Amino acid sequence: MPISNKVMLITYPDSLGKNIQELKEVLKTDLKGAVGGIHLLPFFPSTGDRGFAPTDYTKVDAKFGTWKDVEELGQQYYLMFDFMINHISRHSKYFEDFQKNKDQSPYADLFLSWDKFWPKGRPTKKDVDLIYKRKDRAPYQEITFADGSKEKLWNTFGPEQIDLDVRKKVTQKFIRQTLNELIAHGADIIRLDAFAYAVKKLNTNDFFVEPEIWDLLAQVRDDIADKGAMILPEIHEHYSMPFKISKHGYFIYDFALPMVTLYSLYSGKTDRLANWLKMCPMKQFTTLDTHDGIGVVDARDILTPEQIDYTSKELYKVGANVKKKYSSAEYHNLDIYQINTTFYSALGDDDRRYFMAPASSGLCTRNSASIFMLECWQAKNDIKLLEKTKEGRNINRHYYTKEEVEQEVKRPVVHSLLKLFTFRNNEAAFDLEGKIEVTTPNENEIKITRQNHDGSRVAKLHANLQDMTYQVTVNGEQVKF
Ligand code: BGC
Repeated sequence: MPISNKVMLITYPDSLGKNIQELKEVLKTDLKGAVGGIHLLPFFPSTGDRGFAPTDYTKVDAKFGTWKDVEELGQQYYLMFDFMINHISRHSKYFEDFQKNKDQSPYADLFLSWDKFWPKGRPTKKDVDLIYKRKDRAPYQEITFADGSKEKLWNTFGPEQIDLDVRKKVTQKFIRQTLNELIAHGADIIRLDAFAYAVKKLNTNDFFVEPEIWDLLAQVRDDIADKGAMILPEIHEHYSMPFKISKHGYFIYDFALPMVTLYSLYSGKTDRLANWLKMCPMKQFTTLDTHDGIGVVDARDILTPEQIDYTSKELYKVGANVKKKYSSAEYHNLDIYQINTTFYSALGDDDRRYFMAPASSGLCTRNSASIFMLECWQAKNDIKLLEKTKEGRNINRHYYTKEEVEQEVKRPVVHSLLKLFTFRNNEAAFDLEGKIEVTTPNENEIKITRQNHDGSRVAKLHANLQDMTYQVTVNGEQVKF
């Protein structure tokens, strides 16, 4: 299904019903009309990080379904699949072959030797300190080969996720073949997971290394360009980095919006949100909630340090069951730059306040909106799952049965929200070739006008973030949700 400017649902293959088959039923009934695309989080066999340590991209994990299920989904919705360009499972056939045959393995070059990367006498403490890390120690793992010898390998994320050496021919071939396979099964967009970690270079912080990172993106784009698919590079950092990516012609994620929206809803002030909506690029996917945490670094310099501090403090104060320890090592959390909570609980499980979030920012921004499955029914933090697994990131990764979904959509507030998504999907005023205008009549109010390319459809939102009132009109007629 070609990509369209319609809400994209982010979901694990077993989040809404126990597999893709049940997900399809939920989409057909409870979510009918509300979404136009699906970001189906990793559905390949995997050995960790809920799918982000894939062993084999040629298969759909049997517990989720088959390629037929995935392809059928692609007939109704545009699809986005993840490609973990930085790493692969320690239990993939590639890694296992390398471990068995060492330098004789055809896949030996696929992995990046920590020992060979550094010149003699390095890394020094300064070298290690410089690396942009996801853990509080040097990012390697020592492995033992079948012959008993040992070697350290780059390992940015969890122990199951061994880094790939993207500069090598064998890796480039693997990337090309895998992407083409994913596209053959219906991927319209390839989300390049954690791509900024993929290039490692001496005397850099090994994150978003220029100019090499541009070569990598161009290589991937060219690999799939003739198949009509596109890439969405995923990066959590200062907005200047996604902006650069956008200037190179790629779609980007708007990960700044969650913090900026929270700040606006906590303080009742609209100027930061308006400022951000005026400056962010057109070609992006908005997010409020995702399967990860709420990015803090992403909002730097859009909010001042004081405003970021205020927002983080409010999050822990107003938020329902949002605790610092959930985003820490005690809860095995990798995302040291993110706060873990559902967006709904970040707003104190408050229906009225929550509704303003997608209404005032998520849906009125310039682009396709990505909606995490929890946003559909304003889900609370799942403390039971969090405590059972001691995984901080499970706080917003509830497994809904089909029956639970059926119950959730009966709530009046959920009904309104789904109506809002449907409106967003069908209203021509949100045309990507059209215009957006944002003004702030006073400290607490924001007006957003969206107009399609020929000016025949004009949608206006006038919201007050202090008293949480709003009005939406299209061509002067009021729209109710
Ligand atoms: C994904 C995470 C994952 C990480 C490593 C990310 O950016 O969104 O869920 O843990 O990449 O693959």
